[in-house]
Amino acid sequence: MSKRRKKPEPSRRKLRRTRKTDEHAPTRDKRWNERYRGGDLEHPAASFERIVSRHDRRRSDIQLARQVLREQQMGGAGGAPEGAVEGVIVDVISGGCIVEADGMRRRAVLRGLLKSLETQERNVIAVGDRVLFTRLDDGTGVVERVLPRTTVLSRRYMEREHVVAANIDQLVIVASVDEPPVRSGLIDRYLVAAENGGLQPVILLNKIDLPGADEARSKLRQYPGLGYPVQECSAESGEGLDAVRDLLRNRSSIFAGQSGVGKSTILNALQPGLELRVGEVSESTGKGIHTTTSVSLLSLDFGGWVVDTPGIREFALWDFPAEDLPFFFPEFEQYLGRCKYRGCTHTHEPGCAVREAYESGEIDSDRYESYCRLFESLK
Ligand code: GDP
Ligand code: ZN
Repeated sequence: MSKRRKKPEPSRRKLRRTRKTDEHAPTRDKRWNERYRGGDLEHPAASFERIVSRHDRRRSDIQLARQVLREQQMGGAGGAPEGAVEGVIVDVISGGCIVEADGMRRRAVLRGLLKSLETQERNVIAVGDRVLFTRLDDGTGVVERVLPRTTVLSRRYMEREHVVAANIDQLVIVASVDEPPVRSGLIDRYLVAAENGGLQPVILLNKIDLPGADEARSKLRQYPGLGYPVQECSAESGEGLDAVRDLLRNRSSIFAGQSGVGKSTILNALQPGLELRVGEVSESTGKGIHTTTSVSLLSLDFGGWVVDTPGIREFALWDFPAEDLPFFFPEFEQYLGRCKYRGCTHTHEPGCAVREAYESGEIDSDRYESYCRLFESLK
């Protein structure tokens, strides 16, 4: 292979250089992710009303409408009618959503532009979105604006993006000592998804009452040093649950992890009667009163919110370029830029500084293998 072909295109090089200046900031720094994600959100200022009326004339102009929505999301409250109040979407249902404000829930439809966008695009609203809505006398409402999102948890679902939830503070990645045992590859994928969406990831090891707890702990040993806190509990014996309550208090959280690790048992132990919708919900048909997936936001008596995702089994990464992956492994940071080849994928290349660090034991082998598997899956 000639040397020429190894050279990345100038635009890619520029991109890498820009990214490299960020390498000193830890990848778990929320601002890093925000800046990174912010790239596609920059739009020329444009008047909301002007574009809306243009859009009404040419309803097919989805590009323009998308731009308006982004500007809305960037620009905050301007443009909403007088008397509109702020609320949180706790459920997305066929034809609209359930909005909660001042402890009251009401069914709401979307105002024209948002509605036509939602029909074509989906993801215009998601559970957790903060919105401005108008209250109608019949007890329902109309969503006027979707306010800027602080975090977004997305996944690939049927070859498109599914925004699972917006504005959620933390992703609680649940693993268990046994039945099923810890799968670090899955934890690593969730860590990337959390970082990419701006959520703070936390790992929670459940079922510490079972034999083999020490072995499970050792599989998780590297995470705290990387900036990913690890907590442990037993929903069965109650050990560690007070600390889990503190973890969730006054924040919004979403639980993720393999089926059977004890996600519903933990939440039910913390708040009996939380009305978690347990049982099978078909991913492919999305059966039930809900639309494609049944996600909802539940409030916790001790303060805070938790997203219930009974129908969601998979968190495949959506729209995530494989070449960005190294920046989501904090332990790679000090080696990036020291590989022999520019554009090194750190999977097989000779003279790769990351691979050398793995071979000498400086980078944990489970983590490195996770990286290679993830990279392969994203290519
Ligand atoms: P989910 O699929 O993650 O929501 O898991 P579930 O909450 O349905 O729990 C799966 C199984 O694990 C159930 O049989 C629970 O009784 C059991 N389980 C949950 N937490 C614990 C725990 O701390 N210790 C033990 N030994 N079993 C648990
Ligand atoms: Zn390399």
